[in-house]
Amino acid sequence: MTIAGEATPTAGTFGVINPATGEVFAQAPDCTKEQLDAAFDAAQKAQIDWKKDEEKRRQLLRDASAKMFASVSELAPLLMSEQGKPMDKAAEEVFGAGIWLQYYADLEVAPLQIQDDGNAIAHVHRRPMGVVAAITPWNFPLILASWKIAPALRAGNTMVLKPSPYTPLATLKMVEILNEVFPSGVLNAVSGGDELGKWMTAHPTPRKVSFTGSVNAGKHVAAAAATDLKRVTLELGGNDPAIILDDVDPAAVAEKIFWGAFANSGQICSAIKRVYVPEAMHDQVVEALAEQAGKVKMGEGTEEGVQLGPINNAPQFERVKELVKDALDGGATAVAGGAAADRPGYFFQPTIIAGATDGTRIVDEEQFGPALPVIPYRDLDDVIGRANATHFGLSGSVWSNDTERASAVADQLECGTAWVNAHLALAPHQPFGGFKWSGVGVENGPWGLDAFTDIQVRYNQKS
Ligand code: NAD
Repeated sequence: MTIAGEATPTAGTFGVINPATGEVFAQAPDCTKEQLDAAFDAAQKAQIDWKKDEEKRRQLLRDASAKMFASVSELAPLLMSEQGKPMDKAAEEVFGAGIWLQYYADLEVAPLQIQDDGNAIAHVHRRPMGVVAAITPWNFPLILASWKIAPALRAGNTMVLKPSPYTPLATLKMVEILNEVFPSGVLNAVSGGDELGKWMTAHPTPRKVSFTGSVNAGKHVAAAAATDLKRVTLELGGNDPAIILDDVDPAAVAEKIFWGAFANSGQICSAIKRVYVPEAMHDQVVEALAEQAGKVKMGEGTEEGVQLGPINNAPQFERVKELVKDALDGGATAVAGGAAADRPGYFFQPTIIAGATDGTRIVDEEQFGPALPVIPYRDLDDVIGRANATHFGLSGSVWSNDTERASAVADQLECGTAWVNAHLALAPHQPFGGFKWSGVGVENGPWGLDAFTDIQVRYNQKS
């Protein structure tokens, strides 16, 4: 762990499993309550100076970005080993974290003048909140941490960051590397289980909790933060619909839709989780998606040309198995895959499920894995209602050759991002967040920076 700029060992450790083998390959530090106190204390002390000089913060974020670009070969293998994703995807993630740091270093923001008259001049300023507790999940440990580190530090906050116990190593290493740039105490990293997350949200020091993870944990975080009126940003789960309109050539969109669902082995909050197709096109769409699934190379991240890795952890692996079995038991068909792969580790065959219906668990719940249900529909208005009939509201997409018609449908989706003829198109300048249970607040863009600030009105009387 890194506390107050120092590499900090712990008395206890816990095992980290390589999901491609199912074997423990490393031990991670298990933070004690006293060490967490020390981390928050260091962050609080460091914030006194860190908040003073914005240009310096911007320069150090630029340096941090360069460090990330220079550390791809060190961080990517670690990320691959604990997360399971192919090596090139792990490298892209490290690189992406560097892009986010760069974006927030370069973002131009200025106080807004709201009054200038004979009486007074007044501006709206954005002030840092203080110390941020940041908690991340296991699907994209580095990039999701960068979505928090970059804007929080740019705004003048300091941070204590906790990665998921399934993927702590690359994050701890990243923070160690970034501490070559940042003053000690500005960015601290601790690791441990869910209990450590609870200690963080209950701790009196942080003024803001920035959390990415499941809806269930997000609700606990919100409740814990409420007792101290900590600010929260919650990036939670999704059950993204893709709606295909009747003018689409299934063969032409199948590859994009497939990767919108199966990238990172389906373990993306805003991946396509259910595909709605006009009844008459159902079989064609299913066949085109199954063809894609049949072409994919799944394997260990080190294997040449591998495109899909395993599911990250045993509980998630069991959950995907259970949801697929439930759909098949209920009368749906696996046109591709349908079961775990016959090999060690948590590999599940890319699975296309035909003839699924709303009310089936894999349609109604977030599967977060490489299994995609295709659901037929007859009436467009009806299917928009079904797409929205969920507690989730992260994102969605509409597919058509007629972009105006598709846009009109996208306008009716109740979610934070509605794509037309795309899915998973994310970028640092786009605010990302969810409606309903998919989250509170947004990350990225100037809005993501604002989320780490409180507003201060500066009012100067003229006479
Ligand atoms: P999780 O909620 O189990 O864990 C996420 C993190 O929270 C971990 O670090 C965990 O240790 C910690 N945690 C768990 N319970 C806690 C509590 N009560 N208090 C404080 N911290 C706690 O989620 P996961 O299984 O790691 O990740 C998968 C979920 O994350 C999926 O639902 C996925 O959709 C969601 N996700 C959302 C986004 C987004 O930006 N909206 C991005 C990625 C993943």
